[in-house]
Amino acid sequence: MRFDIMTLFPELVSGVLSESIIGRAQKAGAIEVHAHNIRDYSKDKHRRVDDTPYGGGMGMLMSPVPIYDCYTAITAPEVNPCTKRRVIYMSPKGEVLSQAKAMELARDYDNLVILCGHYEGVDQRLLDEIVDEEISIGNYVLTGGEIPACVLVDCVSRMIDGVLSNAECYEKESFSDCETLEYPQYTRPVEWRGRKVPDILLSGHHANIEKWREEEAHRLTEERKKKQK
Ligand code: SAH
Repeated sequence: MRFDIMTLFPELVSGVLSESIIGRAQKAGAIEVHAHNIRDYSKDKHRRVDDTPYGGGMGMLMSPVPIYDCYTAITAPEVNPCTKRRVIYMSPKGEVLSQAKAMELARDYDNLVILCGHYEGVDQRLLDEIVDEEISIGNYVLTGGEIPACVLVDCVSRMIDGVLSNAECYEKESFSDCETLEYPQYTRPVEWRGRKVPDILLSGHHANIEKWREEEAHRLTEERKKKQK
């Protein structure tokens, strides 16, 4: 999977994504992350990328011109040979990201081009021209799309072959069936601040352990459903 992120703050995304599992996956070639600075495509002599909204109102809006020029440059076949491309705008108006959505993106595409907005957002014509879908990371508003883009890249990447080792496999954790949460887990020491690891996990009886885990996962999932109502 290749990710191309269009942003005014490329260091923000490449910094976050260069550490730990996602950083290791890039070095191993399991995924590619390219952060592109939209400002590099501004033809304005002051390298401006925003302007005031027509009709009045607060704040500044990102101009469609440099974003479009950035998009055409980074998706040119000579530099980006991917054919199954999806263009995503990170936006609080979009569909809220879910494990199911991330799985679909990981499965169906080889290139996600992600646009990060800033200020009051982006000129609507640019969205109508190039964006396939808008994705939100939750029902709240942030100052920019960079953190949301990192969330999306992280979540999709863990489902790409070669990103997680077998020991870190995503197939049995929370939402792996798009619904159930994971059971609680424990490691050494066996007793800590008066709290003991549940006896069943020390029993060595695999079938009972499996049953206990399933029951706990079910209980946690039901508890959270109740809270969300
Ligand atoms: N005026 C816009 C909000 C702009 S916030 C509105 O009311 O809808 C600035 C940028 O941050 C947006 O362009 C978007 O890219 C990003 N952003 C903010 N909150 C987000 C969220 N919950 N999910 C994804 N992106 C978000």
